[in-house]
Amino acid sequence: MSILGTVRDVLKASTESANRGDVTGETSKGAYWCDDCSERIRDVDVAGEEAPNCPSCGDEMRFERSQTSTGCAC
Ligand SMILES: [Zn+2]
Repeated sequence: MSILGTVRDVLKASTESANRGDVTGETSKGAYWCDDCSERIRDVDVAGEEAPNCPSCGDEMRFERSQTSTGCAC
């Protein structure tokens, strides 16, 4: 029973994330992060190619590619 419940949770989570990506239609390659403040800005929300500054501390944010889980890791 516990295994069944876990599978259902995984399916539910993957479905939700997939739907979110399809609805927006945006091709986000990742997001900018400030490790100190845990601030996050998606690249599609940033104008231009340069890293934005953290809205909290003003430091330049670090780009991190999104972890795409579409490929099978088996
Ligand atoms: Zn910051």
